[in-house]
Amino acid sequence: MIADLNEKTLDVVVPVFNEAESIRTFHARLRKTLAALPLSRWRVLYVDDGSSDDSGAILEELAAADPEVQVLHLSRNFGHQTALTAGLDHTQADVVVTMDADGQHPPELIPEMLELHQAGYEVVLTQRIEAEGAPRMKRWSSHLFYRLLNLVSGTKVVPGAADFRLLASDVVQGLRAMREYHRFLRGMIAWMGYRTIILPYREGTRIAGSSKYTLRKMMRLALDAAFSFSLVPLYLALLLGGMFLVLALAEVVYVSALWLSGNRAALAPGWSSLMFMLLIVGGTLSVILGLIGIYVGYIFQQVKQRPLYLLRRGAGGGTARASGQHEHREEGPSCDGG
Ligand code: UDP
Ligand code: MG
Repeated sequence: MIADLNEKTLDVVVPVFNEAESIRTFHARLRKTLAALPLSRWRVLYVDDGSSDDSGAILEELAAADPEVQVLHLSRNFGHQTALTAGLDHTQADVVVTMDADGQHPPELIPEMLELHQAGYEVVLTQRIEAEGAPRMKRWSSHLFYRLLNLVSGTKVVPGAADFRLLASDVVQGLRAMREYHRFLRGMIAWMGYRTIILPYREGTRIAGSSKYTLRKMMRLALDAAFSFSLVPLYLALLLGGMFLVLALAEVVYVSALWLSGNRAALAPGWSSLMFMLLIVGGTLSVILGLIGIYVGYIFQQVKQRPLYLLRRGAGGGTARASGQHEHREEGPSCDGG
């Protein structure tokens, strides 16, 4: 049995975007698991990430029926990583678990995660064991993504790591201090260090609906991971530029040699080689400029110091049952941004 849990409090943060068909089933499963734990207090904090279906209303319904449930409504769809951030900003417990609302992260794993935390780990990550049913394309792209990321980044990220994890309150505090605009939580948590353990799990199937991670959102996450975690792309650009510079020098040497050896007939046309060099140099410069441009863009977005998300409160939105200190906390991320 889990020792000393009865002195601990637990918050579970669940980002929700258009999951109307899944939430009730998911909540029933989560609630059953949590109610069986000998915690001093637990709470589920749903973050409605600007859903356009009935998710918001269903969450309010759950909150009205269940004092352990609270809901944050974001003013629009800010994306999974930001929704998670909003949730984490509003936790108060000793231990926080984050998980998806679609049933792919089995709530039944939470007791085991807590046990590992009791054993002294401040971060319990989970790692999907490849499901046989998973689409080959998704498996392959995820594999490639982590290979490349770990190649370019000094901070190592566990391959197949999910945003299903347990964080001790210190770790959550650390995350709160990191107000970067482009957020790749897996990398940020890896960067912080702390005693970490990886718990493998079998991913469940989605309760209903389809993935809310569109190709566009996935690409954005991949870019955020690559460019907000390393300067290696810039070095690569430098390397690429250097390589073509060497090629150009080689060309000069070659042409000079032909010239000096009197073999000038070979040079007469000239046009194709000239064009070739022109294109190569132009292309290389564009690549380098493009990479620099991405970093400048990232810097631009960061220096604006905008809040990472905005909450909707009052009639029809916002969590009516938010406690006093909760109300107070809600002010935090919207205005201080850091
Ligand atoms: N989600 C979100 N905002 C988004 C996209 C997704 O809050 O813009 C939530 C979604 O409701 C789910 C979790 O993030 O609870 C993971 O999304 P999904 O299951 O669609 O991703 P996948 O499992 O396919 O990677
Ligand atoms: Mg999912």
